[in-house]
Amino acid sequence: MLRHALIALSHSETMRRMTSDFPPARRMARRFVAGEKREDALTVIQQLNAMGALVTLDYLGEHVTDKSLARTSAREYEAVLGEIAARGLKSGVSLKLSAMGLHIDEAFCYQNVRKVVAVAAQKERFVRIDIEESALVDITIEIYRRLREEFDNVGMALQAYLHRTRDDLQSLIDDGVADIRLVKGAYDEPPEIAWQDRKKIQQEMIALAKMMLSPDARAKGARMALGSHDDMIYNEVIACANEQGVDPQHWEIQFLYGIRRDELKRLLSDGIRMRVYVPYGGSWYPYFMRRLAERPANLLFFLRAAAGK
Ligand SMILES: Cc1cc2nc3c(=O)[nH]c(=O)nc-3n(C[C@H](O)[C@H](O)[C@H](O)COP(=O)(O)OP(=O)(O)OC[C@H]3O[C@@H](n4cnc5c(N)ncnc54)[C@H](O)[C@@H]3O)c2cc1C
Repeated sequence: MLRHALIALSHSETMRRMTSDFPPARRMARRFVAGEKREDALTVIQQLNAMGALVTLDYLGEHVTDKSLARTSAREYEAVLGEIAARGLKSGVSLKLSAMGLHIDEAFCYQNVRKVVAVAAQKERFVRIDIEESALVDITIEIYRRLREEFDNVGMALQAYLHRTRDDLQSLIDDGVADIRLVKGAYDEPPEIAWQDRKKIQQEMIALAKMMLSPDARAKGARMALGSHDDMIYNEVIACANEQGVDPQHWEIQFLYGIRRDELKRLLSDGIRMRVYVPYGGSWYPYFMRRLAERPANLLFFLRAAAGK
């Protein structure tokens, strides 16, 4: 119930304006966001790299309806990739098609993403396409497949809560283009298309991870990133990878910046390849609301801070 309400509020323009100007919200958002400036993000990458963690950097923004904003976003990715390479940082980038102009024009969006992927290829860096609400899944897969015809430094994410995902994943594996970050799914989707039960979503996530780690999928070039802080899931997937003798460099676990830092350190010390998703930029409101929705305790913490307690 609370989750649905918070996700609904993440789309509210009035709430966005109120929250973005509200100091306790800005302070709490800093827990999940590296900062508003490129330099803030580069500093955080440096710190995480020093701990042994890899990074994927997200320039915040989504559902852009203005061509100039989509171009600004693509240019920011190009610039930050240049800085990442110049400083020898171990980081790729993650982007959302809705930030690249998907809602304006698909061809325009494709050109923006293609340019970012081409610049990343020159700099030997990887681009991950985030997965957004279910209405965008078909077009995201289509754009990803088209990019894969030309580039191999690009992957996408898929959501375990969607009923369709097993089929989507199998077809990407069979076509030899499965470079996938598996996540549970952060949007509000109806029961007709998405599992709602936490246990069922955990089971799906594990089943999808096992599909990706199978010898057949690996022989077809499948590479998995497991985007989850759920120890029930990653412990089982680590055990499966060990049983199958999967090279530890062949797959990775990804955490969001600011979440389960102790576990991040522990997994790194266990020799697991870990990558942290680090968002930065001024458009942090919807991202922040999804993080509140994932954990009611965050909301309580936020309300206490807002009340000055
Ligand atoms: C690297 C990465 C990339 C992602 N990309 C996408 C994407 O492209 N599309 C998409 O729909 N979703 C994405 N997600 C979000 C994902 O779908 C889930 O909503 C989110 O990861 C929470 O699920 P969980 O598997 O971590 O498990 P949970 O059961 O939610 O969390 C397990 C434990 O982690 C901790 N935790 C989890 N979330 C929080 C939080 N917000 N604040 C504090 N502690 C927390 C808690 O200790 C919790 O008990 C991404 C997640 C990660 C980690």
